Amino acid sequence: MIDFIVRKQKYQRDLEIFGTRNSYSKTDPDATFMRMKDDYMKNGQLKAGYNTQIATEGQYALAYGLFSNPTDTRTLIPFLDEIEQDYFELPEHIVTDASYGSEENYNDILLNRKREALIPYTLYMKEKKKTYKQNLFNPDNWPYDEETDTYTCPNQKHLTFHDYSVRTDRTGFQRKFKIYECKDCSDCPFRSSCTKAKEGNNRKRMVNETWEQQKEYVRTKLSEERTGAIYRKRKIDVEPVFGFLKANLRFTRFSVRGKSKVENEMGFALMAVNLRKYTAQQLR
Ligand code: SF4
Repeated sequence: MIDFIVRKQKYQRDLEIFGTRNSYSKTDPDATFMRMKDDYMKNGQLKAGYNTQIATEGQYALAYGLFSNPTDTRTLIPFLDEIEQDYFELPEHIVTDASYGSEENYNDILLNRKREALIPYTLYMKEKKKTYKQNLFNPDNWPYDEETDTYTCPNQKHLTFHDYSVRTDRTGFQRKFKIYECKDCSDCPFRSSCTKAKEGNNRKRMVNETWEQQKEYVRTKLSEERTGAIYRKRKIDVEPVFGFLKANLRFTRFSVRGKSKVENEMGFALMAVNLRKYTAQQLR
């Protein structure tokens, strides 16, 4: 009985340390287990770490934040909050790579912060490929009739509106979908290539209209001359900061434990990056 009480107390302590995370390191309770890019053992082992976010301009680090969430997508909003609160007013354009492209992030940047999001989404590059555009069974390529609100599949059957569906993400953000269903997939000669639906069920298609509009917005912005040029500068702006930090300074792991100490160490490292950049500019 005593053993149970001790264990319960231990689990309660653990839950308090966990917070919103699903793991923590015993040697540094502020650190969370994550899959690292540098996998020396080549076994996909998780290691205790912090997800570091850095905002840059002209190869200078302007702001940084440490997060316990390993997914970049879910660190963007809290990082933008931190920047606004502790650093500076957000610029007109928020530029990141595709790992930050999500409905919640676009929604936050465009509607709440009234900024332009120059952020591609995961399929942005793939959508441009011939194989994607010519895939007959990709519903993105199926003709849509606005008047009847129907899609037409390769077997010339109509997918009509069936129902609405709402998905709630881990952050509590809700995404709304329209579900379309094919009238009759039985005896379809393309069935095995088109759907994994169980025999007797018809193919369905889920459409998130907000997401489709956001993707269209991103495609337009990234193809416009001015905003496209700003986006293309991301690679030569952000990557050299990480490159110098990791390859030249060999700063690939923290030497202290605890978030506040790690924050200080990160700050010193980024200060070194900025001083080196400043000195290099002065010597030109
Ligand atoms: S399986 Fe259904 S949706 Fe797919 S091509 Fe055949 S009839 Fe059309």
